[in-house]
Formats: sequence, structure tokens, C-alpha cells
Amino acid sequence: MRRTFLGMPAFPEAAARAVADPVLRANLRHATHTIRDKRARAVAELDDWALLREAGRRIKDRTLRHLDTHLLRLEEAVTAAGGTVHWAEDAAEANRIVTGLVWATGEREVVKVKSMATQEIGLNEALEAEGIAAYETDLAELIVQLGEDRPSHILVPAIHRNRGEIRDVFRDRMADWGRPAPDDLTDAPADLAEAARLHLREKFLRAKVGVSGANFMVAETGTLVVVESEGNGRMCLTLPETLISVVGIEKVVPTWRDLEVFLQTLPRSSTAERMNPYTSMWTGTTDADGPGAFHLVLLDNGRTAALADEVGRQALRCIRCSACLNVCPVYERAGGHAYGSVYPGPIGAILTPQLRGTASEADASLPYASSLCGACYEVCPVAIDIPEVLVHLRGRVAGRGGRGHRLERAAVRAATWLLDHPGALATGERAASAARRVVPSRPPGSGAWTGGRELPEVPQRPFRDWWRENRA
Ligand code: SF4
Repeated sequence: MRRTFLGMPAFPEAAARAVADPVLRANLRHATHTIRDKRARAVAELDDWALLREAGRRIKDRTLRHLDTHLLRLEEAVTAAGGTVHWAEDAAEANRIVTGLVWATGEREVVKVKSMATQEIGLNEALEAEGIAAYETDLAELIVQLGEDRPSHILVPAIHRNRGEIRDVFRDRMADWGRPAPDDLTDAPADLAEAARLHLREKFLRAKVGVSGANFMVAETGTLVVVESEGNGRMCLTLPETLISVVGIEKVVPTWRDLEVFLQTLPRSSTAERMNPYTSMWTGTTDADGPGAFHLVLLDNGRTAALADEVGRQALRCIRCSACLNVCPVYERAGGHAYGSVYPGPIGAILTPQLRGTASEADASLPYASSLCGACYEVCPVAIDIPEVLVHLRGRVAGRGGRGHRLERAAVRAATWLLDHPGALATGERAASAARRVVPSRPPGSGAWTGGRELPEVPQRPFRDWWRENRA
């Protein structure tokens, strides 16, 4: 069983461990810089990128405002097309539904399309606990699964691994899961891909149940959409007799016209492609073509709570392109595991604390896992103002109290009073100038924040005095 994020330490501790690993840093730097440069070139090809981005933002906001209506319309359309819709309030309910559906087929193994929603709810672990084997078929997910690892990137879950490490994982572990890797396997990309292809092929041909997520759901026709690059998704979505899709409720778009915008912005933002190699769409069931039974599990798991937050709800616009991860200086150094969630990087720092809450130290640390440089906002194809949400969530964490935050709040209260009393502020400034030789150059304390910062030099005379004299 692959490792989960349960029991992970808070971000500062996990990040400190990660930055001490030079191989990990080199892997991440190489991969993120390659993808981000390609993305920039792909986006620059479009003259109307800014308009597409704005259209995406508006479509998502408009849809979220009337989410209940669109979901009911979707349910109606899926049902009319021969599918069955299930509603899951949380991870436990979703896992119960999927496990029950697989048991009902009599099968004990499923093939999976890469899906963030099923990782979020820990579906593989829930299935395994009930004696059902779940086989990941996306290449990077396969590497993570065989290596009993955790995913560290939304799009490239094994981004922390280099080719040599992947070859070792294939050589050591493939035989435990099915067809072994060739003895003379090299670390050439074509050889690794061929080994994975042969290993997976027998699973595709044998599987009777497929499990997927979806990138989008079109309410007007009840159509689900998966975009991918390898073709494994197409196999899982068409070959099995039963298809079960677990999808977050925010993935609905009202019409095909709305979908058009995202099918332009998502590939360029994620894989820097003009269009995805494979875009699979299905609507319910069709006689003698594809799965004969289709189940859609609509997942809430904290999304309704996020929707109720006026600032935080913009995180639900996310189309999981991962562009924000690839430009983030914190992610580049700390890597994905440090975020303690299947959603790493800037989007994880605002999504996880909203989906899971901030009760645990690990989740409460996430809004602070950022320098607030704003690079994530610049690249986001749906214009999520991630820095704004980070600051908002920091306010929520600080508002809860606790020793560190009591001090912070006392300091903010003192600063508020001082700025409200200009006379006292001027006296304080003059006193600081008079005592400038004894003012320390570093803030007091030896914490991680204070230890790494210097205080600004106190000027010989306060600016307001200089201004009074020189204004004329
Ligand atoms: S927050 Fe924006 S940039 Fe980041 S994954 Fe989501 S859509 Fe992409």
C-alpha cells in the first residue's frame, strides 16, 4: 500500500527536511523550470489569453453562484442518459458508495484513471481494506504506487523522482503487481514507457470495473470530460463493463459553450500543449459501446463550506492545471510532500485548509507556506487570487488564538493604537532616533522568523521632522 499523508508534520518541519535533500531539489528545479518555460511559450501563442482567462473566471464564478441548480440539472441529464447519480457528503460516504458498487459487480480489482478526487478521499486505501485491488494506470501514478510513495505534484505526481530512480522502482516492484520489468531495463524514457505499457496492457484487458474522476461535467447534457496525455484514461473509460466516476461538485459547467474556454486554457496551462492528446467524453451509457453501467459519485467533502466563504470560495474555480506549482519558489524548494496533502503548492495551501479545516497544526501551517510573491496569481488560468486567500486564511488561523498568535494580536493592537495617535508616534520616532546606536539590528527572539531577519536602520532624524523643514 502506498504511503498516505496521515500524520505528516506541519509544513515548516517537513519543508526543512525537504530542502536538505540536494537530489530532490535538483529534480524539482529541473522539472518545474522545464514545464514553466514551455507553458509560457504555449500561452504567448494566443493573443486572447487574457480574455480567455477572464472568461474562465466569470464562468466559474457564475456557476458557483448557482451550483445547486446546475448540479440538479446535471443529475437529471445523467439519469436520462442511463447513468446513476450518488451524492457523497464526505470521504467516508464516497468510499462506502464506491466500495459497495464494486462489490455488487462481483469483481475484486479496478483500473483507475488519474484522479485527484479519489486521492483526496483515500479511495485506494478504502478499497484495499475491503479486499479490492486498485491499479493506477497513469504513468506517474504507477511510479508512485509501485514505489509505495506519495504524490508530490498535481499533474506529475512523481516529479520528485529522476529517471534512474524510476528504473529502479520498475525493476524492483513491477513483478509484485503483475508483468515484471525487463531485466535489461534502462533509464531511457522510451524503455521506461514501454515497460509501463506492457505492464498495464494486461490490466486494461482484464479489468471489468474502471474508476475515474473528471475534469469537467457539462450539466446541459450530463456529459463527463477527462483530458489526458497517455491514452490510459481512454482505455479505462471504454473497456470495463462498469465505470464509476468520483467528481467534486465544483467541476460542473453549465453548457458546452462554457467548456470551450477551459479546453483551450487547461492544456496550455498544464502540459503546455495546444490541445490534449486524449479528450474523452461520455454521456451515460450507450448500448454495446463502452461500459454498460455508469455511476457518478458527486463529492462534497468540504466544498460547500468553502463555497460559503466569500474570499475563500475562489479556490473552487481551480481546474487543477498545476501552473501555480511550477512557478512557486516555495514549492520548487520544499517539494510537494511538505504540504501534507494530495493538493500541494499554492493551490494546496488554500484548498486543503478549506476542505479539511485548520484544526490540526499541519493544516493551520499551510496558509503560511508562501512568500506571497504573487507568481501563482499571475499564471492562474482562472485568476484565483491565491495571495488574497492565503492572507484571509492566515487571519482565520490567527483569530483562533494560541500562544504565538496571542503575541501577534497584541503587537497588531499596539501598532493600531500607535498609528491612531500621531503625537505618540512622532514622540516614539524621535526617541528611536535619539537611541539609534543602541537599537538592535535584529528582532528579539531566536525563532525561525526572527532569526533570519534584520531590523531596518533607524534614521538620524525622523522623516516627518525632515519633511516639515524641507517641504517648502
Ligand atoms: S490554482 Fe490556478 S494555476 Fe493553480 S492549479 Fe488551480 S487553476 Fe491551475
